[in-house]
Amino acid sequence: MGENLNIEKLKASVISEIDTRHHRLSELSLKIHANPELGFHEVKATAWLTQYLEENGFSIERGICELPTAFRGSYGQGKPTIAILAEYDALPGLGHACGHNLIAACAVGAAVASKLAINQFGGSILVIGTPSEEKYGGKAIMADRGVFNNVDMAMMVHPEVCNTAAIQALACQTLEVEFFGKAVHAAARPEAGINALEAMLNSFAAINSLRQHIRSTARIHGIITDGGQVHNVIPAHSAGDFIVRAEDNTYLDELKERVLNCFIGAATASGARLEYRWAKPRIALMRNNLTLARLFRQNMQSLGRRMQLFSRSSVFGSTDMGNVSQLVPGIHPIVAIAPVGVSIHSPRFAEAAASEAGMRGLVDAAKALAMTVVDLVANSEIAVKVRQEFKQQK
Ligand SMILES: [Zn+2]
Ligand SMILES: [Zn+2]
Repeated sequence: MGENLNIEKLKASVISEIDTRHHRLSELSLKIHANPELGFHEVKATAWLTQYLEENGFSIERGICELPTAFRGSYGQGKPTIAILAEYDALPGLGHACGHNLIAACAVGAAVASKLAINQFGGSILVIGTPSEEKYGGKAIMADRGVFNNVDMAMMVHPEVCNTAAIQALACQTLEVEFFGKAVHAAARPEAGINALEAMLNSFAAINSLRQHIRSTARIHGIITDGGQVHNVIPAHSAGDFIVRAEDNTYLDELKERVLNCFIGAATASGARLEYRWAKPRIALMRNNLTLARLFRQNMQSLGRRMQLFSRSSVFGSTDMGNVSQLVPGIHPIVAIAPVGVSIHSPRFAEAAASEAGMRGLVDAAKALAMTVVDLVANSEIAVKVRQEFKQQK
């Protein structure tokens, strides 16, 4: 009973710690929002975040995993080692339409407030700065390079349009394709040309046909990054990027082959030569640790924000947190900052990421994360339960 009282008091202190820092955290998140940087170019965001952590007693390692805009901030020593992950990359043309500015400020705010728990019970808190979630899956690269080897649990919160502690995220892999044809005058000698753009367009047509016959949870989508230079030359080169997503690994393998066949067929039909590359690493499915998710949900609900434990209906695309969650127990809850109907990766979501609702989401998420750290360091049985669940899922 005495211990429970102690935990409740500590939770009240981390809540008021974040309330005290509310202004500074919101300023930090708005500054990142106003200076959107693309994946692996997040120089300003990294500088601001590491500075904030350093000012608050964290030791910082920059450029970890041979990625210049990755970092690790650490405080405390010994077990458990709890990592809070920060994303901070923006989207081309849309800015912070995925709200990663909020994720970043939430992560550092939660970590600094968690110091109170670490000071009292021991353990370590890490902020791992993970660049380029959107394009290159920075966490997947960092996971391969061993950054999570000594981590016991990893948590982050992503803004969305509903409050859910455990999400469904698809496995996916990016396909880069190029067609090589033959340039000729488009009117004078069309019969002598090989049209690399037509090969690309026929690939789209074949994928559109294929899409009628795939599982409803799978996704295939792409863009053309080169479709020729000028209208009176038959394009000798075309290029595109595609993503293939599925809710299980076996089906993803099957679908990858069928998608690739669309390009091979278009190459044969047009006479253009195909080159392709499956980007590595592949993004893994999210493996939710429900013990952690329940703790987080309970803490969030105590702040007055209703939260579902899991919803199969809200598919969250894919996230490189999936790769982390395959290595260590992890959660990637989502917190509502915009009305249902607004889509992430849209201009309206970019506005929400700088709104009052965005700030409320940031503050609630930071509190719930720090309160979950309190639970984990104060009660070693919970940490054991988290690990047991993780082992049973393997
Ligand atoms: Zn996104
Ligand atoms: Zn995102």
